[in-house]
Amino acid sequence: MSDKMEFKAEVNKLLDIVINSIYSEKQIFLRELISNASDACDKLKYLALMNPDLAQSAANMRIVLTPDAEHNTLKITDNGIGMNKDDLINHLGTIAKSGTADFVNNVKDNGSDVDLIGKFGVGFYSAFMVADKVEILTRKAGENAAWKWVSDGIGGFEIDEAQKENNGTEITIFLKEAEKQYTDTIYLRQIVRLYSDHINYPIVLNLGEKGGEEVINTGSALWAKNKAEITKEQYNEFYHHVSKNFDEPWMTLHFKAEGNIEYTGLLFIPETQPYDLFQPDRKNGLKLYVNKVFISDKVEELLPNYLRFVKGVVDSSDLPLNISREMLQQNPMIAKIRSGIVSRILKELKKRRDNYDDYMKFWTAFGTAFKEGIYEDFSNREEIAALSYFNSALNQEKLISLDDYVASMKEGQKAIYYITGDDVNVLANNPQLEAFKAKGIDVLLLVDPIDEFWTQVLTTYKDKAIKHISQAEETFDIERSQSQKAKDDNLKKLTDYMAQVLNGEIAKVTTTDKLTNSPVSLTVENGQMSIHLERLMRNHQQQTAFSSLRILEVNPYHPLIIKLSEAVLDDNLKMKVSDMIKILYDQALIAEGEAIKNPSFFAEKLSEYLLAAV
Ligand code: ADP
Ligand code: MG
Repeated sequence: MSDKMEFKAEVNKLLDIVINSIYSEKQIFLRELISNASDACDKLKYLALMNPDLAQSAANMRIVLTPDAEHNTLKITDNGIGMNKDDLINHLGTIAKSGTADFVNNVKDNGSDVDLIGKFGVGFYSAFMVADKVEILTRKAGENAAWKWVSDGIGGFEIDEAQKENNGTEITIFLKEAEKQYTDTIYLRQIVRLYSDHINYPIVLNLGEKGGEEVINTGSALWAKNKAEITKEQYNEFYHHVSKNFDEPWMTLHFKAEGNIEYTGLLFIPETQPYDLFQPDRKNGLKLYVNKVFISDKVEELLPNYLRFVKGVVDSSDLPLNISREMLQQNPMIAKIRSGIVSRILKELKKRRDNYDDYMKFWTAFGTAFKEGIYEDFSNREEIAALSYFNSALNQEKLISLDDYVASMKEGQKAIYYITGDDVNVLANNPQLEAFKAKGIDVLLLVDPIDEFWTQVLTTYKDKAIKHISQAEETFDIERSQSQKAKDDNLKKLTDYMAQVLNGEIAKVTTTDKLTNSPVSLTVENGQMSIHLERLMRNHQQQTAFSSLRILEVNPYHPLIIKLSEAVLDDNLKMKVSDMIKILYDQALIAEGEAIKNPSFFAEKLSEYLLAAV
C-alpha cells in the first residue's frame, strides 16, 4: 500500500525555485548527490566502528553512476547507511538546514531565486533542476525493510515498501528531455573530475554490459597531497564539501605538523557567518581521519568553542583506528592536536590582520565569537585580545585594536578605558564619556554580552590596566570658570534633596567634575556590576531587581543644576524642583539605555515643560 504525502511548505517553495530556476550550473546536482552518497558511506563506517555486525557492509564502499541513454535516466547508487521510512519522511520531506529554510521563507513569492542555489546549496532537491521524476530505492543498514520513494517535485511524494538486497541507496533521475547530456559518459567524467574528484570513495562509472566499470575520481585525500599540486578551485570544492557552505573560504590553512604527534590539517574559515553561530545546539567540530580512513564527523574536541566557525579535516596516523567518540574526549593526543591547531590559526590571523579591510571581513562575521576566547582560553588570552577589534569613542570610522589604543594613549593616562552597553551610538553619547572626550582620552565602546566577561579576566594588556570608566582614577582638569558653578552650600542642599526625592531608587547622590554637557549621570560604586551587565542578567532572569548601588552624579557647572540649587532654597518651589529631579533621573536612565519607571509621568511633565518653553 502506498503512502502519499505532502512536502512541508518550505520544501514546496524551495522546489518551486529549483524547478523554475534559470540557474546555469545545473550540473551541481551531481555534486550534491555524490556528496550525500559519500556522507552516507561515512555514517555507516562510523557506526561499524562500534557495531561489529555492520563491519561487513561497511567494507568496499563505493558510489556508482549508471547512465542509460535509451531511457534517459541516470542512477546514483551507494552502499552506505541507507534510509528507513522515517528517515525518508524526515530528511527528504523537510529542509534539515534551518539556514536554508529561513532563507527560502524570505524569498519573495513571485519567483525563482538563482542566487539561492549557488549560495546555499539546495542539497538533494537540486536533482529537480534536471529531473521530471526522482525515484529512490533504499534500505537502512541493520534493518530488513526496504523502501521506494517517488516524486515529481510538484505533487508531494509517495512511499512504498519495496525489495532491496543490500543496504544503501539507489537514486534514479528521470531526466528532462532537455537534459540528455547527463547520460553522456564523457560529460559525466568531466563533471565528476571538476566537482567530486576528492571524494574519498571510488566513484565508479558503469558503462554497461560491454563497457564494464571505470573508476573516475582520483579519490586521493586532498589534504594528503602536496600543497604545490593543489589548485585554488580544488581547495574551494573541498571546502564546499566539508563545510556544506557555498561561499568562498576567507582563509585556507593547509599544514603538516611534525614532532611528537604527526598530523595534517586542512582548515577553512568561511567568509559569511552561519545563521546559527550563537545557537547552543549547533554542532561544531572538524572531521577526523586516521591515515585517510574516516573516523568521525564534527569532532568538537579538536576545536575550542570560540573557534567553532572553523571547518575542515584533521588526519593523524598516530591515533588508533578504532578510536571511539568517548575515547576522543579523554585522549591526550587530541588535546595536543587541538592546541597545535589553535596556535596555527592564531598565527595565520596575525598575518592577515595587516590588511585592515580584508581582516574586517573576518572580524565582522566571527569577531563576536572569537572574542569569547579572551575569556575561555587562558593560555592564549593576550594573543586573542591582540587580534580583537573594538569601537571607540574617538574613532568613529574604524575599529581599533588594543595596540592601536595603547599607541594613542595620552601622556600620564593611567589605564585603557571601556564602557559597556547595547548600542554603539547610545554609548558614544553617554554623559560619563564627556570628560574623557574633553581630555582626548579614548574609550572602548563594548556592545557584545561577552565583553562583560572578558573584561573581568583580562585586567591588563601590555602592562596597562583595563578599566571600566566608572573606575577611572584620572584627574580631568577641565578648564571652567568657577563663577559658573553652583555655590557649595546650595549644591549640598540640592543633592540632599535629590537623595530624599529619589530615596529607594539610588544609593546616593554625589557631585562630579567629569560631566560637561549633561546635568546628571548614573554610575556604580567601584567594583560593582556595571549597569549594562545588570541589565543582561535581568534579561536572562538571573536577577529581578536593580541592585541598589547606583550613584547619581551631579554636574555643579551645569546651568540647570545651578538654577535648581537656588530654587531648592525656596519652599514654594519645592514641588516643582522635586518633579524636575525625577525627570533628570529619568534622563540619566535613558542615557544608560535603561527603561524609565513611570513613562506617563515623564511624558506629561515633558509636554508641560515644552509648552512653557514655546
Ligand atoms: P544535507 O546533505 O546538507 O544534509 P541534503 O538535502 O543533501 O542535505 O540531504 C538531506 C538528507 O537526506 C541528508 O542529511 C541525509 O540524511 C539524507 N540523504 C540524502 N541522500 C542520502 C543517501 N544517499 N543515503 C542516505 N541518506 C541520504
Ligand atoms: Mg547534501
